Amino acid sequence: MSHRKLTEPRLVVASHNPGKVREIAELVSDRGIDTVSAGDMGLAEPEETGTTFIANARLKALAASTVAGLPCIADDSGLAVHALGGEPGIYSARWAGPEKDFAAAMQLVEESMAASGSDDRTAHFVCALCLAWPDGHMETFEGKVFGALVWPPRGDKGFGYDPMFLADGESETFGEMDQSRKHAMSHRANAFALMVEACLNDGG
Ligand code: IMP
Repeated sequence: MSHRKLTEPRLVVASHNPGKVREIAELVSDRGIDTVSAGDMGLAEPEETGTTFIANARLKALAASTVAGLPCIADDSGLAVHALGGEPGIYSARWAGPEKDFAAAMQLVEESMAASGSDDRTAHFVCALCLAWPDGHMETFEGKVFGALVWPPRGDKGFGYDPMFLADGESETFGEMDQSRKHAMSHRANAFALMVEACLNDGG
């Protein structure tokens, strides 16, 4: 399948999260691409009304690209717990409530798993990425990392559900391990690798 290459010198990152913006800026800077965040451009964040990670990434990327008149990248991510039919999924951030209390969100995941009656503790993180152009063209990629959920949560590195996520083959949770190690194996790393291969490398 052929993909559109990102040849423009400037890319909007449709995120108001400085961590994500920095990560993406670093990734594309060695290709001579300059980034500007949606926040810095004063672009409003659209409501995430999609029912899938891909749909939400697409609507965020397209909204910002159309207004800015530049190509734009957006991501949407979350935790899918198999015993819960994929929940919290696209609602992963919302399970933490307005206070963004992830200790409470992890507790809710644990209680929901107990209530499900299943002893399946497997789960995966998902990251959907969308690169959109002002003419409406979009390229989307999805990365995953599989593992199991531990209780109680372990470690204070990382963010979100990291302290309860143990990737397959690992002995430390994402909350315990060196973050460079997490970043090399995460759902986000996998999605970015697909995007770089398809849209930034020659011949993808
Ligand atoms: P969003 O993609 O910014 O809408 O946020 C997705 C939510 O999923 C975050 O608030 C976290 O709760 C969760 N999440 C996504 N990626 C990770 C991760 O790498 N570790 C832990 N939690 C994550």
